[in-house]
Amino acid sequence: MAEARHARETPRGWLGLVLRPVAGPLREVLLVSLFVNLFVLAVPLFVLQVYDRVIAHAGMTTLQALVIGMAVAIAFDFVLRQARSRVVQRVALRLDAELGRRLVDKLRRLPLHLLESRPAGAWQTLFRDLETVRATLGGASAVLLCDLPFLALFFLLIVVFAAPVAPVLLAMAGLMAALALASAWLVGRSSRGERAAARRRDELVGELVQGRTTIKSLGLGAALVPRWEDRHAAAIEAALERGSRADAFHNAGHAVAILTTVAIVSVGALAVLEQQMTVGALVAANILAGRFVGPLVQLSSSWRTYAGFRESAQRLRDLFALEEERAETGIALPRPQGVITVEGLSFHYDAAAAQASRNVIEELSFRLGPGGLHAVIGANGSGKTTLLKLLQGLYRPAAGRVLLDGMDVAQLGREQIADCIGYVAQDCFLFDGTIKDNIALADPRASDAAILEAARRAGVQEVAAQLPDGFMTQIGEGGHRLSGGQRQRLALARALLRDPPVLLLDEPTANLDREARQRVVANLLELARDHTIVMATHSLDLLPQCASVLVLRNGRMLLGGPASEVLARLQTGSAAGSVSEVGP
Ligand code: ADP
Repeated sequence: MAEARHARETPRGWLGLVLRPVAGPLREVLLVSLFVNLFVLAVPLFVLQVYDRVIAHAGMTTLQALVIGMAVAIAFDFVLRQARSRVVQRVALRLDAELGRRLVDKLRRLPLHLLESRPAGAWQTLFRDLETVRATLGGASAVLLCDLPFLALFFLLIVVFAAPVAPVLLAMAGLMAALALASAWLVGRSSRGERAAARRRDELVGELVQGRTTIKSLGLGAALVPRWEDRHAAAIEAALERGSRADAFHNAGHAVAILTTVAIVSVGALAVLEQQMTVGALVAANILAGRFVGPLVQLSSSWRTYAGFRESAQRLRDLFALEEERAETGIALPRPQGVITVEGLSFHYDAAAAQASRNVIEELSFRLGPGGLHAVIGANGSGKTTLLKLLQGLYRPAAGRVLLDGMDVAQLGREQIADCIGYVAQDCFLFDGTIKDNIALADPRASDAAILEAARRAGVQEVAAQLPDGFMTQIGEGGHRLSGGQRQRLALARALLRDPPVLLLDEPTANLDREARQRVVANLLELARDHTIVMATHSLDLLPQCASVLVLRNGRMLLGGPASEVLARLQTGSAAGSVSEVGP
């Protein structure tokens, strides 16, 4: 497997991941927020002037001027808020596009052992994380955060115009901050529990959908329903717990907001009586206090959004920091002849198995090719599939190496390996679309002639001939409209399109009837003249047609050599020998 490497540009923290690409527009948002908040000050100043000048001195001209001033301020405020919303939306969309591109690219570059180490639901969650990041950055909660620094302005104004009530506001702000922190801790914790429970439920949903045919045919519904009910109930309970905690904090915040008004008016009334401030200043301070406390109340109830945002961004950052396999080799190589050399190859799936000295592949050494049809046989679980994946560089060996024409496949980029070594898995996955689309997926620039040639070699032409729309037949999600054998032939055609000099086939004829199998084998034999073909197979009747046969048992080579020799030994029951060099 390619040497481990990490994405070079991944920032250390999750915040860097989301803020770095949008730092410029975010500065714009903060600047606009400054003006928006300056306009917020216009209302209390207007009220202060009306109480203390217009009412006290019957100043009608002052009132007219003030109203005109306010009308202009309101218009500007509207325009600025609109502009800010637009920039915020743009920031969120830009980030979504940038992270989305990186996410798909990263997933493409992850080594197979990492991709297999998490359930499908975990990978789908990452795309929901992307949505969460966009929705939070483009939503009211982000605007709220941009407004927070300017609360200091409101406080400053209260200190200037209504100093006696400033300590009251400070105390209430302290109370609010304590509430927001407690909410962050407690609601944050139950939000995490809620999301984990929802994830477990969604994973089961994914399995239920994927396994729907099996569930139906084996009548597994009755056994699975209680499992679904348990997970669904756990998700509901977690949501309820989070909801009641969040509500409690929201209501407490509301109570503190009312308490703030009562305290400010009471303390302010005493100050007015003692002539330390004017009635206008008291009313204006009250309005300002509302502007001050409002965002703090919102903050304590927005904590769920922030916690979700943080968790999503953290997960994305963790993904971007994962090791990548080698994408490019860096040098163009000539088409290999197809000599595969395996030297002291050992492999295990997990460290625990390795400690128990139970390698799935143990000390394999052999040489195949160039050319020829070669078979790997062995009981279920003997390591045939694992060996094919190792030959294609999909896993990193624990020891030893795989060479293609003398080059270590671990040093080749994934694209180059795919060009040189085709692999058709046992559970050959097809995509929604036509037969032609599925073959062309291997090389979107391939000509129709090349597609037809790959189809002919894999026996897909006969399949297409039986279908109403031929090559343009829609095969449905996962190719479910085709039979197992038809899918297998289509997957083979897809692998043949790039015409790789080496082909690895996992049980290529398992689902074929006798006639189809003979045709595919005849085609493979023709291909094997100038291609090295290695197939894992259970079909002993194919063996006499092979150039060489490897027999695996528990990951070790039991027998290996020219097919005639191995078959003779198998027939006489001799299992000795460790032939390591076999040609076409
Ligand atoms: P075969 O193709 O001969 O049936 P495999 O190569 O699929 O055998 O499997 C060899 C051994 O490796 C088996 O014991 C199997 O349980 C184990 N194995 C296969 N795939 C994985 C995996 N992704 N994670 C852990 N163990 C695995």
